[in-house]
Amino acid sequence: MHKVGFFRSIQLKFIIIFILLLLVAIQVIGSYFARELEKELVKNFEESIESTVDILQVNMEQAFSKERPEDGDGPTLKQEVQDVVRVNDTDNIINIQVVNMQSRIIAASNSSSSGNIGKKTTSDFIKNTLRFGVADSDKVYNTERNLIYRRVVPITDDEETQVGALYIESSISSVYNQMEDINNIFLRGSVLAITVSAFLGILVARTITKPIMEMRRQTQTMAREDFSQKVNVYGSDEIGQLAESFNDLNAKLKHSRASTEEERRKLSSVLSNMSDGVIATDKSGAVTLMNDAAARLIGRSPEEAHGSFLLDVLELDEKTVDITDLPDSGSMIIDFSDQDNFFLIRANFSTISDDEADITGFITVISDVTEQEKVEQERREFVSNVSHELRTPLTTMRSYIEALTEGAWEDKEIAPKFLSVTQNETERMIRMVNDLLQLSRMDDKDYSLQKEKTEFITFFHHVIDRFDMNVSDNITLQRELPNGQFYVWMDKDKMTQVLDNIISNAIKYSPEGGTIRFNVVKQKNQMLASIEDQGMGIAYEKLNKIFERFYRADKARTRKFGGTGLGLAIAKEMVEAHHGKIWAKSKEGKGTTILFTLPLMNKKRRGK
Ligand code: ATP
Ligand code: MG
Repeated sequence: MHKVGFFRSIQLKFIIIFILLLLVAIQVIGSYFARELEKELVKNFEESIESTVDILQVNMEQAFSKERPEDGDGPTLKQEVQDVVRVNDTDNIINIQVVNMQSRIIAASNSSSSGNIGKKTTSDFIKNTLRFGVADSDKVYNTERNLIYRRVVPITDDEETQVGALYIESSISSVYNQMEDINNIFLRGSVLAITVSAFLGILVARTITKPIMEMRRQTQTMAREDFSQKVNVYGSDEIGQLAESFNDLNAKLKHSRASTEEERRKLSSVLSNMSDGVIATDKSGAVTLMNDAAARLIGRSPEEAHGSFLLDVLELDEKTVDITDLPDSGSMIIDFSDQDNFFLIRANFSTISDDEADITGFITVISDVTEQEKVEQERREFVSNVSHELRTPLTTMRSYIEALTEGAWEDKEIAPKFLSVTQNETERMIRMVNDLLQLSRMDDKDYSLQKEKTEFITFFHHVIDRFDMNVSDNITLQRELPNGQFYVWMDKDKMTQVLDNIISNAIKYSPEGGTIRFNVVKQKNQMLASIEDQGMGIAYEKLNKIFERFYRADKARTRKFGGTGLGLAIAKEMVEAHHGKIWAKSKEGKGTTILFTLPLMNKKRRGK
């Protein structure tokens, strides 16, 4: 928000309104006052003139009514009237004239007009009064452009007959001068009042606008998501209440922001800790949100995927899937495999709708189903492997038994041979079925081991001893076992089986005159056992596969030894059930080493 300049501010408006109001008030009062005052002054003036006129009228009446002696003794009428007139020549009165019925001026106060005495008056104003016998008054400007108040009254004698007219001219400008003075005073007073009130206006405006300005500043801080400050409350008037509600609003906003923030954090922590990937899009299908799990699964960072279309992100063909056609809650498996890795993702789609049931976006939850699919595939392979493995000995047996039933049983030489082959095959099948049973039992959850405290070196010696007796002379079993004591918490029978298989493999694949080395070393809190032979070895890429069920590195050769490819798979399961690890090292043509670790019992437990 930009700053409000003074000329657009509420302060200036206040001051202007203040001054305008005052001006109007002063104007109304002033004009009313001036008019009334003028009226009053004019009235007073006229009254004072009127009283002079009254006196003069009375004097004239006396002068006109006086009996004058024939001989002309004593003052004449003219002289007497002239005396009356001259006496009354006061400052406001400029001119007094007395006119007889013949319109002749018989007396004048003014020296300039005394030359007119005896002449006929030319003024219609006076003539009218002579003619009709009525008084009259008016205001005119004289030759010097001064305002003049004129009054003319009839003069009567004591018999009430008109004998002349009395004319008075007086200067009324003094009244107007006085009015001007008063107006000037008034004007000065007004200017003073306006100045004072302008200052007052500024003060008042300040007090009113200060809290408003503060609130304005506060809204700006609030817009920056800072809710830490409060505005001052200066009173309990409307603005004070506004400030209070404002603080209230601030507190509420702060609180609701905190809780949305909290929700957001919860949501983001849920999203980031989910193992499933979540992708949210708007209604056009553009990605708006994606969690880390989703980013890992599809191999794109959330920033990179933001804004791109869901179908592109999921590498779906727009022709095969239409975003708007996606079912409300459907799922599909998407193949993300490349040349090296098999990778399948299951995507579950759902829509977000608003109150009016319009779709506002999509939520896609994706998860890695590669393992699941792999397990499925393994199971299928396993069944086919088992059937295949069983079919071979069974067909062999059938052909031998057929031969026997067809008469070979009578042949004393061939019959025992054929029977021993079927016996071998049966035994092989039994062995295989037993192995399978064991594996399936181990797959079972409640499978339990009979673990006991065992000294591994002694135990290892025992196992090797059994082979020592049967092994042909041209294979050497070389023990490189330490003298120390290695206590292990284990199932003796099962570990015997593990070692049996590893050692018999070693013997099986050892060349004539080969040596098999047995070694055990201690590694921190575990022991590492290794069985090394000098056989043909295993190709590097097959090293891990030999622990898979039914896997045989070299099918043609191993079948000769009667193996089913289950031995190492069982060994791996067993070692892992003992919290150990098993792996193989090999150099093709030079030999193979099978290594496994087992955790050692700690001293405390050993001491028991
Ligand atoms: P089983 O043990 O069930 O009778 P097997 O010996 O063939 O049959 P595993 O013990 O699981 O099965 O061994 C799997 C495969 O690993 C063998 O078929 C063989 O190809 C290879 N292998 C195992 N040990 C060695 C070894 N010491 N030298 C060379 N190859 C080996
Ligand atoms: Mg084996």
